[in-house]
Amino acid sequence: MAGELILIIEDNEKNRKLVRDLLQVKGHKTIECETAEEGLKLALEKSPALVLMDIQLPGMDGITALKQLRADPQTKSIPVIAITASAMTNNRQAMLAEGFDGYQSKPISLKDFLGEVQRVLESHNGPSTAL
Ligand code: MN
Repeated sequence: MAGELILIIEDNEKNRKLVRDLLQVKGHKTIECETAEEGLKLALEKSPALVLMDIQLPGMDGITALKQLRADPQTKSIPVIAITASAMTNNRQAMLAEGFDGYQSKPISLKDFLGEVQRVLESHNGPSTAL
């Protein structure tokens, strides 16, 4: 499942670079922005296979942005993984309850992160037939 276009919405430059580098090593294409407002526009224009959504953003937060993606027929079925710095133990359940398809906490763990991206892409597209 390489070569998918993945939209990164993240205001922190270091996290953005880390996530971009990991995804590109895996053969994915990435586009990125620092605000939810810009992310909503890019999601409409580019129809990414997956969105990585930081929750704490300047302006609109990631949860509000998810609701807006889901409210638009053109973007409602794009899977979205929440990325949050908060260390609350029930964060995963809380984010899934909000309607996110996956969840990762910061700091990003390389193996967990790529596993979650793969899991969400496959559950959306069906398992890859490539060996
Ligand atoms: Mn942030």
